[in-house]
Amino acid sequence: MDLFAHKDILHVEAEQTIKVTNPATNEILAYVRKTNAAELETIIKKAQIAQKQWAQTLAEERSDKLMRFYALILENKESLAEIMTKEQGKPLAESLGEILYAASFVKWFAAEARQVCGDIMESKTKAQKIMAIKQPIGVCAAITPWNFPSAMITRKIAPALASGCAILVKSASQTPLSAYALELLAKEAGIPKDVFVVVNGDSNVISDVLCRSEAIRKLSFTGSTKVGAQLYAKCARTIKKLSMELGGNAPFIVFDDANLEEAIEGIMASKFRNSGQTCVCANRIYAQSGIYAQLCEALKQKMQTLKVGNGLDKGTNQGPLINQAAVEKVKEHIADALQKGAKLLSGGREHSLGGTYFEPTLICDVRADMLVAREETFAPLAPIFRFESEEEAIEAANNTEFGLAAYFFTQDYKRQWRVAESLEYGMVGINTGLISNEVAPFGGIKHSGLGREGSKYGIDEYMEIKYLCLNLQ
Ligand code: NAP
Repeated sequence: MDLFAHKDILHVEAEQTIKVTNPATNEILAYVRKTNAAELETIIKKAQIAQKQWAQTLAEERSDKLMRFYALILENKESLAEIMTKEQGKPLAESLGEILYAASFVKWFAAEARQVCGDIMESKTKAQKIMAIKQPIGVCAAITPWNFPSAMITRKIAPALASGCAILVKSASQTPLSAYALELLAKEAGIPKDVFVVVNGDSNVISDVLCRSEAIRKLSFTGSTKVGAQLYAKCARTIKKLSMELGGNAPFIVFDDANLEEAIEGIMASKFRNSGQTCVCANRIYAQSGIYAQLCEALKQKMQTLKVGNGLDKGTNQGPLINQAAVEKVKEHIADALQKGAKLLSGGREHSLGGTYFEPTLICDVRADMLVAREETFAPLAPIFRFESEEEAIEAANNTEFGLAAYFFTQDYKRQWRVAESLEYGMVGINTGLISNEVAPFGGIKHSGLGREGSKYGIDEYMEIKYLCLNLQ
């Protein structure tokens, strides 16, 4: 795919543009057109018309088009991965992994399109038939983040399109190219141009129009809790259905009876994927006192294998952070922890490569009064807390307003169930650090959000239940 040949998307000389740069090199990749408020109103009107027609198509037709879209993503996976690495910075192998992950939602919901069923209920009188049918909610909007530039989009558009909705996507300003690439492939797959539209521009302007619009019946947002709360409030006036996939502060608990080697593998996968810039990444690592010293040493050794560099270079598994603000935040978290008594075991500074590269960092003797315990760091910083008892670990893990993902390692099968039930989180990984896939319901509780994406529950987020009461007398 040669996205850069599409001059209708990338306007080098236009005034109203967003500059897209490569965080690994600072090279300017493209200038993307900003959508203004008047244009967005027109896009919404067209989507309203197109959605009505799309909803009339047979589920089988929508499913076939989604399968064609899926096939096109796979055919173009190498180019899509390269676009992603260039605009986002993650290593090429991870980008390829994300493209396959993104495609998996399209395939999953292509099948789900044909599984939507209503119900017939036992009625109160002989003359009545009581039924429930499911219908697409209408025109939807999505606002997505930069850390997973493709998967966070397909997780929303695939169920929306499968159910017969139209969906307008405002991608993150740092990563619009991956979004436009998906839009082009969807068109090529035969999905009508007005039912899936990517827009970009000033996030306040775009979100004001989307949230105020009566025509938009649902907003699905993935991003920070702060922005999620603002959008929640903005949507109140038009009582929209909402899905909110927000920030996390994942605890990762390793008990004395864990398989330590597997736990270290789990921490590496959970903590350092995407250079620590994932909403489900281990933010607080709790090690029980019996294995504490051993875990710190083993993790330190393992972290020596991490290779920081440009994501396009072979062997790189830690790319740059997304921007300078991300570097400042991790520096602040490290300085705060060290000043309050934590010990630095490795890393701790900006990487010698310069730019926004940061050294994978390990600190131990971390305590609950430090910033790292309360805030999502979103960087390659592994802070280790010591605990004595199971109760203490559960209490510490739950002591946060977030509730997205949690992990723990233990070989005691009774403890596996007990701890899993006690953790106040939407998702729990037991003896694994990798939990995301299209089959599973992804989502959080508390300040981490509302609703579930993927799985058999995902399509319901884009449908309304209508009750029919048929009187036969
Ligand atoms: P963010 O600042 O909240 O931005 C996310 C999206 O919201 C972007 O498209 C951004 O547009 C837009 N936005 C920013 N300010 C806005 C405003 N005032 N009004 C309307 N839209 C606005 O988050 P981020 O830094 O991109 O992403 C990282 C966060 O996302 C982390 O907290 C992470 O945990 C969370 N996340 C959650 C999940 C999940 O599934 N729960 C998955 C991935 C990430 P611009 O780019 O144009 O500013």
